[in-house]
Amino acid sequence: MPSHDEALHPVQWTVIDMQDAPMQDHPTPEKEHSGNFYRLKRQLERQVAQAITDYGMIDDGDTVLVCLSGGKDSYTMLDTLLELQKRAPISFRLVAMNLDQKQPGFPNHILPEYLQNLGVEHHILEQDTYSVVKEKIPEGKTMCSLCSRLRRGAIYTFAKEIGANKIALGHHRDDILETFFMNMFFGSRLKAMPPKLVSDDGQNVVIRPLAYCTEKDIERYARAREFPIIPCNLCGSQENLQRRIVGEMLESWERQSPGRLNNIFRALSHVSASHLLDPNLFDFRGLTRDTQVDEGDIAFDQQDFKPERFEDQLEELPLL
Ligand code: SF4
Repeated sequence: MPSHDEALHPVQWTVIDMQDAPMQDHPTPEKEHSGNFYRLKRQLERQVAQAITDYGMIDDGDTVLVCLSGGKDSYTMLDTLLELQKRAPISFRLVAMNLDQKQPGFPNHILPEYLQNLGVEHHILEQDTYSVVKEKIPEGKTMCSLCSRLRRGAIYTFAKEIGANKIALGHHRDDILETFFMNMFFGSRLKAMPPKLVSDDGQNVVIRPLAYCTEKDIERYARAREFPIIPCNLCGSQENLQRRIVGEMLESWERQSPGRLNNIFRALSHVSASHLLDPNLFDFRGLTRDTQVDEGDIAFDQQDFKPERFEDQLEELPLL
């Protein structure tokens, strides 16, 4: 059994170098047992292992509550964590859960049957948040914000009840990028979706093991595995129009310049506070000739960007 320190910095988790292994396209793995499928599966496992390592998501002795919605992302997350659990240098417990929010038409047999067949410890929690949301939110208004708050409360309480100290959510790289641009466009903040965070009451640590995985890869994996997907429109809520527009904007950027989303994503973990404008992040007022600034002097320079990594056409890019 490794020491606590080894668990925090587990050498063997690290099976990929993100610089050398960008999120690349694979041909669609048509069959679950094809070579393409195994390559994709390995890539997802490496990316999840890397994210777990980089952000210290899972420690020895943890109990991780894996939240399943019935969508492709959370099925893929559970699959990958179960696989990594077998090979990890540390030992941790995985408990799968689904919150049945009582939306009309929710096929409540699908997840229990799936989890039973998988043989994984699991719980189905029933809480009629749907009625609460319907009652409180006027017809035609989006219900997602109250619905998510109620869901969060239910999951946090349940995690405490079963002694889970980590809660795993299935958000992926593209969710993080979308949130980043939503916050920038509509909230005037440079803020994304963190791979690991502590709940306001300090009782729960939320982790996002799929942070490095692209939605495209997850879609391909889910198709090949033929997960019993539960549609996410059962509540009847309108999709957030702005989020959809931002998603389409990102897709079009990637089509025009493959690799751009990866570069933006990497930029989120290579932040130069001295070259932004936030006086709370960097002490501009205290800056003198004696201050060492890592990024150096670019006062008079035009910056060079390698065209193959980041084409210098930014001014030509349509925002929407
Ligand atoms: S889409 Fe429906 S179930 Fe999902 S968060 Fe919004 S209201 Fe809740």
